[in-house]
Amino acid sequence: NRQIILAKRPTGMPGDENLKLQEGAVPEVGEGQVLVRTIYLSLDPYMRGRMSAAKSYAASVEEGSVMEGATVGQVVESRSGDFKQGDYVLCPGGWQEYSVNSPKAMRKLDPAQAPISTAVGVLGMPGFTAYVGLDEIGKPQKGETVVVSAAAGAVGQVVGQIAKLKGCRVVGVAGAEDKCKHVVGAYGFDACVNYKDADFREQLAKACPDGIDVYFENVGGETFDAVMELVNDFARIPVCGRIAHYNDTAMPEGPDRLPGFMGKVLVKRLLIKGFIQFDYIHRQGDFLKDMPVWISEGKVKYQEDVVEGLENAVSAFQGLLQGKNRGKLLIQVGDD
Ligand code: NDP
Repeated sequence: NRQIILAKRPTGMPGDENLKLQEGAVPEVGEGQVLVRTIYLSLDPYMRGRMSAAKSYAASVEEGSVMEGATVGQVVESRSGDFKQGDYVLCPGGWQEYSVNSPKAMRKLDPAQAPISTAVGVLGMPGFTAYVGLDEIGKPQKGETVVVSAAAGAVGQVVGQIAKLKGCRVVGVAGAEDKCKHVVGAYGFDACVNYKDADFREQLAKACPDGIDVYFENVGGETFDAVMELVNDFARIPVCGRIAHYNDTAMPEGPDRLPGFMGKVLVKRLLIKGFIQFDYIHRQGDFLKDMPVWISEGKVKYQEDVVEGLENAVSAFQGLLQGKNRGKLLIQVGDD
């Protein structure tokens, strides 16, 4: 059972000294439990937070433990009446080839209904995050301008397409030309600008001639600053992620811009609300009703970036924190 453990908490970008591949035992299956062989491991930005000791909305992974992660796999042995050998399942298997799970943390998947990988992508946590963040906080209205950062990623690509369905002008922000082309060409965004371009601010202003009504925040950093120059009165900003800061090791240089920022919040009457997708878990039924229909009708498309082999998980995770992924990042751990 090859597994990747958190050997040592990282400072800045995690590397091989922090995340170590080791050979472990295949775990014993206790009464009521299920042994699952991992097919896909989902790599997600939140994992950087779990590697840190800082207090957050979920507990850190302990040093020496297998890294946490959602997986899609197949049941090898079941001591639960709810699952049988051969079932495809979604479970919190972690960065390893075999995991023991309790049925309450598992969901059966129907490979005839959708590719099983989508259970950790467009039909899973990232898709759900986009759906609830936009609907519950962004509340986009027809004709409004919606901007989304990390636009080509797992969450961003879905945010933009749902906003298009709601009749909005949708502008993406991404860190590469091919990503910008893809979100416009494949997902139907109205425009997409590259935050790495020297004239990014001018490009963003041009793409948003009527200002910005909803900004779905995935990154922080310069993109947030540029957006703040363009927000309209009563704009809504669901704060979903701040990936530009996940490897920060120190506070930014002064001057303190907080008073100016709070002034803008007041004068423009902005709604800025952080959320974690599970806050809206009561909307899961709506999501699982709407999203498969949108996909089958071709209204929502998706891109997955599948990296072969558990041994490549660390470099792939580094790539996620550097924008190397093209769509939802997955590790193919075993055959499907
Ligand atoms: P993505 O598939 O979007 O991959 C991450 C992307 O972030 C990269 O491809 C890169 O795109 C961008 N990025 C990386 N580093 C930086 C940087 N320094 N500055 C700006 N952009 C950067 O990931 P997800 O869709 O899974 O996640 C997107 C965001 O949503 C993350 O912040 C994540 O933490 C958050 N999230 C929050 C949830 C919640 O419940 N609140 C749930 C799920 C995700 P590019 O090339 O465009 O820079």
